[in-house]
Amino acid sequence: MDFKDKVVIVTGGSSGIGAETAIQFAQQSAKVVIVGRNEQKLRNVAISCESAKGIKPLIIKADVTIDSDVKSIIEKTMERFGQIDILVNNAGIVAEAKIQDGIEVYDRLMNTNLRSVYLLTSLATPYLIKTRGSIINISSVAGQKAVSKFVVYCTSKAGLDMFTKSLAKELGEYGVRVNAISPGPVKTDIFAAAGLDVEAFVRNREASSPLGKIAVGKDIADMVLYLASDKANSITGSIYVIDNGRLLE
Ligand code: NDP
Repeated sequence: MDFKDKVVIVTGGSSGIGAETAIQFAQQSAKVVIVGRNEQKLRNVAISCESAKGIKPLIIKADVTIDSDVKSIIEKTMERFGQIDILVNNAGIVAEAKIQDGIEVYDRLMNTNLRSVYLLTSLATPYLIKTRGSIINISSVAGQKAVSKFVVYCTSKAGLDMFTKSLAKELGEYGVRVNAISPGPVKTDIFAAAGLDVEAFVRNREASSPLGKIAVGKDIADMVLYLASDKANSITGSIYVIDNGRLLE
């Protein structure tokens, strides 16, 4: 796959799935825009990206829950690269919370996992129409399978799935493809950030998966690149599960 002269925005590019995705696009000669809040982590990913093909990525320090930050992602990308070909909506958070725990967690997760995606995508769409570009949303199997005490996370990802399908219909006439990937558990920092017991969580998920393992970031990034490539030019409105078979259980 060759992404030479393609401009790719990856939100949540400072860590985990997003970092791996940014690096893989850079290895295929893309001009990469890496978005996150942690500047040091963004710089580390940028070094890996640049060392691949010598193309300097654009780092944008932005909080996707702040509207002016989201607008700056599009403005800075256009200023530096003059076009947008691929948008990877990957930034996301998870939190364990019961329904009695109040509305704060709802606002935090929905703003990060869904509202920000809507806003950034709406601002990117005029440019994606110009390039007949592609959108890939990183959802979760939690959007398809109910998980007790994760009602907000599941709801945010179910919303993202329907956003993906509805938008694929709306943008099809412009040649813009919209797809999602729904990973099962992936070895990243997300569980520690949510305060979960990571070792116990991973052990449990590995034991309960038909293939006896959980995914790594590269498994997801491989599918992102495939969906963004010409090889997938008949695929839109689809949601790809990558979960080592856990959804079958
Ligand atoms: P990580 O915690 O490793 O990465 C999350 C990324 O999102 C970081 O780069 C973080 O950047 C960014 N981010 C979070 N909040 C904001 C914000 N307000 N503004 C800007 N950036 C933000 O997690 P993963 O790589 O695992 O997660 C990536 C996506 O994959 C998420 O959408 C998640 O829901 C989804 N997913 C993950 C699974 C897993 O098991 N790991 C399973 C299923 C889906 P920074 O800290 O620099 O702001």
